[in-house]
Amino acid sequence: MAVRKYGKPLGDILKIKSDFFTKNEEMLAMSHRQADALLRQPKRKCCKICHEPVPGEVLYESQRMRYYLCPVCGHVNSEYEDTDDFAEAVYITDSYENNYSEEDRGKYFARRDTIYIPKAEFLLNELKRDGQSLSGIRLLDDGAGSGYFVSAVRKLGIDEAEGVEISRAQVDFANAMNGEEILRQADAEAIVPILKGTDCNVVTFIGVLEHIINLDEVLRAVKENPNIRYIYFSVPMFSMSCIFEAAHQNCYNRHAGGTHTHLFQDSSIRYMAESIGFKELSSWKFGSDAMDLYRMLCVSLEQNGNSRLKDVLSERFLPMIDELQQTIDRHESASEIHTIIKRK
Ligand SMILES: [Zn+2]
Repeated sequence: MAVRKYGKPLGDILKIKSDFFTKNEEMLAMSHRQADALLRQPKRKCCKICHEPVPGEVLYESQRMRYYLCPVCGHVNSEYEDTDDFAEAVYITDSYENNYSEEDRGKYFARRDTIYIPKAEFLLNELKRDGQSLSGIRLLDDGAGSGYFVSAVRKLGIDEAEGVEISRAQVDFANAMNGEEILRQADAEAIVPILKGTDCNVVTFIGVLEHIINLDEVLRAVKENPNIRYIYFSVPMFSMSCIFEAAHQNCYNRHAGGTHTHLFQDSSIRYMAESIGFKELSSWKFGSDAMDLYRMLCVSLEQNGNSRLKDVLSERFLPMIDELQQTIDRHESASEIHTIIKRK
């Protein structure tokens, strides 16, 4: 029986994501540009996960994008397809300074410890519970970004943990922060061969699967490499956040839209796992739905001249935000899931 865990205190995350509050117009404009790019793509003919034809009935529409519910696997697909052309238009190459200060290091490790250590602990605890010795873990993190997750796993004692990442700037940044080579750069077309050839037994995709254009090929590579015993991933879910966003069209849509062109449900995750011969080991659901709602209320109050009421809202709403989110999580409506699946 798969384990289900719910909730996670918000802690410092509100502070880390403060741009969402102060730069609504800017973020919304960025999201509009990303939607423009998606609207230029061909219409999606089949579901991203199960490949059955996308039916004609619209589930909802938000920020000019229609979303369709797949009747076979329950996946929620946008009307237009994510393509290489779309990826080129929306993924901006980051640039980083070459000189990093002690302050940068402090921020880096604070972020790692707040956001990524709990995720790494969840993974390692569940692997232990499943009978894996930690000394036998070899971990590959695909789409490792700035290396926070790999750094967290290594801090918890897994020496054989490395990441691959497309962005050279992020690889350099991660390695400089950590003082060792924990990531290596790999172009998009190198990812499938890397997965085919890896001898790692745990492969992780933290906030990555939803962005992969050739998801089928990536999943097939995992399926056909028997060394890979566990996959740990987090993906965006069809959730309360989607509904809050659809109801607040003047607020930045963090969740559906932008680079997220499709959303998971438990049933489409199950379908995906089954299709590669894996099954659920453990899932941890904790969303940002309550924070999204809070942010949208703040932005809307500000927009209609009610900034004093916004202060009252923060005074009264923030003390209960973790409890509200826990309730959403327990009712299976969280914006995000962390899942470990295991080869059958
Ligand atoms: Zn489907």
